Amino acid sequence: MCIFCDIVEGKIPVQKIFENDLVLVFLDHRPINTGHALVIPKTHYANLEEVSEEALIAVALAIKKIGGLLKTKLAVPGYNVCENNDGIAGQEVPHLHFHVIPRQENDGISHQWPHREYNPGEAEEIIKKLLT
Ligand code: 5GP
Ligand code: ZN
Repeated sequence: MCIFCDIVEGKIPVQKIFENDLVLVFLDHRPINTGHALVIPKTHYANLEEVSEEALIAVALAIKKIGGLLKTKLAVPGYNVCENNDGIAGQEVPHLHFHVIPRQENDGISHQWPHREYNPGEAEEIIKKLLT
């Protein structure tokens, strides 16, 4: 169905870190930082809206597990967890996946989002739209 389905089926070799019935964790082949891991459900779901709760829970637990492994085995002091949900958000592989990106002191990786202030009444308007 997609390149990550091929990886799940063993058609494309990867550096596997962990797997169980529901999830697979492997090294990203073009890491942002050493140890950059991808956590995917074994079943093909395009994004967070599609994924089953059971698979998502398994993915979340695997993220926690790999985060711990990075800290204890690779002496990684912290990491970013990131999911690009849909093409507009930068998702290139259309199979839900979470990036676990190790961070190091002075690693030169910029993770700055352009924050801004809400205009008067804007936040209240959004809450109204979301809740009605
Ligand atoms: P996205 O931009 O979709 O959030 O991230 C897709 C990620 O998958 C990228 O970081 C890319 O390097 C990784 N990737 C794509 N194809 C392969 C592959 O065949 N093997 C591995 N190990 N990683 C891949
Ligand atoms: Zn897939």
